[in-house]
Amino acid sequence: MSTLRLILGDQLSDTITSLEHLDLAEDTVMLCEVREEATYVPHHPKKIAFLFSAMRHFAQDLAAWGVRVRYVPLDDPSNTSSLTSEVQRAVQQIKPARVIVTEPSEYRVLAMVKAWQNTLGLPVEILPDTRFLATHGDFAAWAKDKKQLRMEFFYRDLRKRYDILMEPDGTPTGGQWNYDKDNRKPPKAGMRSAPRISHKKSTMTTDVLALVKARFSHHFGVLEPFYYAVTRQQALKELDHFIDQVLPHFGDYQDAMVAGEPYLYHSLLSSYLNAGLLLPLEICQKAEGAYRAGHVPLNAAEGFIRQILGWREYIRGVYWHLMPDYQDRNSLNATRSLPALYWGHPTQMFCMYEAVRHTRDHAYSHHIQRLMITGNFALLAGLDVKQVQDWYLAVYSDAYEWVEMPNTLGMALYGDGGVVASKPYAASGKYIHRMSNYCQHCHYDPDVMTGDRACPFNALYWDFLVRHETLFRGHQRMPYVLSTWDKFPPEKQNAIRAQAALTLKKMDEGTL
Ligand SMILES: Cc1cc2nc3c(=O)[nH]c(=O)nc-3n(C[C@H](O)[C@H](O)[C@H](O)COP(=O)(O)OP(=O)(O)OC[C@H]3O[C@@H](n4cnc5c(N)ncnc54)[C@H](O)[C@@H]3O)c2cc1C
Ligand code: SF4
Repeated sequence: MSTLRLILGDQLSDTITSLEHLDLAEDTVMLCEVREEATYVPHHPKKIAFLFSAMRHFAQDLAAWGVRVRYVPLDDPSNTSSLTSEVQRAVQQIKPARVIVTEPSEYRVLAMVKAWQNTLGLPVEILPDTRFLATHGDFAAWAKDKKQLRMEFFYRDLRKRYDILMEPDGTPTGGQWNYDKDNRKPPKAGMRSAPRISHKKSTMTTDVLALVKARFSHHFGVLEPFYYAVTRQQALKELDHFIDQVLPHFGDYQDAMVAGEPYLYHSLLSSYLNAGLLLPLEICQKAEGAYRAGHVPLNAAEGFIRQILGWREYIRGVYWHLMPDYQDRNSLNATRSLPALYWGHPTQMFCMYEAVRHTRDHAYSHHIQRLMITGNFALLAGLDVKQVQDWYLAVYSDAYEWVEMPNTLGMALYGDGGVVASKPYAASGKYIHRMSNYCQHCHYDPDVMTGDRACPFNALYWDFLVRHETLFRGHQRMPYVLSTWDKFPPEKQNAIRAQAALTLKKMDEGTL
């Protein structure tokens, strides 16, 4: 039966279910670059270039294996700019008996694909995405009788199921499930990122860079230099380099931030993993292998594996378990407009400047910058949850709604009312001062609460807690923080709240 097999931009794995039982004589595999997907939020030019180049290389490999490939580049004059109309056009021209696609990773695209059954007038088979380590059913079964959906317990189940860092007697390697307490060291003086590899650009990549430059240079973000891996072979080199050179230090400095050092000891693998160039189990097994070979300490291997086997699978589980209602949550009623400083408007806050600069230059910033700098600021300032989510979705090369939304709405903004985060990740300038060297470069002073030099995080922190005190006084883990506020004399409380109001005003005016 002739089949049109659609591969989406984040399905670039040769083991993807939509390629199973491929008939070389009858079937056509289709990939298309569509304007609609590149612009529904203004994606970072590096992200668009990475995905288009990776798609083109993937299509080239398929063609080399003898697969009939229909590839529609963005600048093809007949490109109709949307996924649905491109599939319609392909169906009219090729006249397949059916369409096969692996389940899209985002709810929005799944709804679109489900509608094709009616509009195309032929069967559309949606296959499960077996690249993830837990199915939707696994997560639903685990979540069914739980009052709280805590990642740690889900992670332990997956450790056992995939036999990762487990001993033959069923206990976790090293006797503990989690070594997070060893993974919160502040940066050492003079700490630098580990050296990183870059990849020779193919003609295909230079063509894509020219295309992206011509069509998307008005989007926020710097396109070149472009050093991303765009093939599985290159992504595997990134993985090997990370395991050999960087992973040994990952755990200790996972939460540290250093001026001018966007990467430190993070893996930079999320874009490759989320697009399908790497698979989660192979990464976890390599990290475990490095530990068993005595090459990396247990806290580094476990800490890293927990991010992928634990957090990544859990986040996806939450998304599919709670969508579509999840997307409309805004438990703290956060509605203030996203200030221009998120788009690179000058600010005297060094930490915000640095996190946004890394984002602009690399389409990347590491987890603690996303959570405790840009995320923490958005939480404390009460920024509109949808605008903040759109920003995160647009600016990071690894961002897809399934992973961005629970991280932003849930973890950073507490907008889901405590599903992902057991309490808000709210912190004053003290935390940033402890975990980074940013404050020494800043106009503001992390030890000052009010006045011209007061760190904006400080007054905003207390103002945030007081704005939501009704909610937080009844929260299991928050009242002790508010008890400190209660001890402040009224004059101090008033001064802090006035400082917070002034900070927000300056933020809105673009003078913070
Ligand atoms: C507000 C906010 C938004 C985020 N948006 C995204 C996003 O759009 N896409 C995305 O992949 N990650 C997102 N994250 C999670 C995390 O910040 C990134 O996965 C990580 O920074 C990617 O860099 P890395 O590959 O160097 O990660 P490492 O620090 O080296 O971690 C290893 C891997 O673990 C996985 N991982 C770690 N933390 C998480 C997490 N919380 N959720 C899911 N996977 C995780 C990633 O695949 C990552 O590659 C977000 C976090 C926050 C706080
Ligand atoms: S003083 Fe405040 S604003 Fe400045 S870098 Fe430190 S935490 Fe950020």
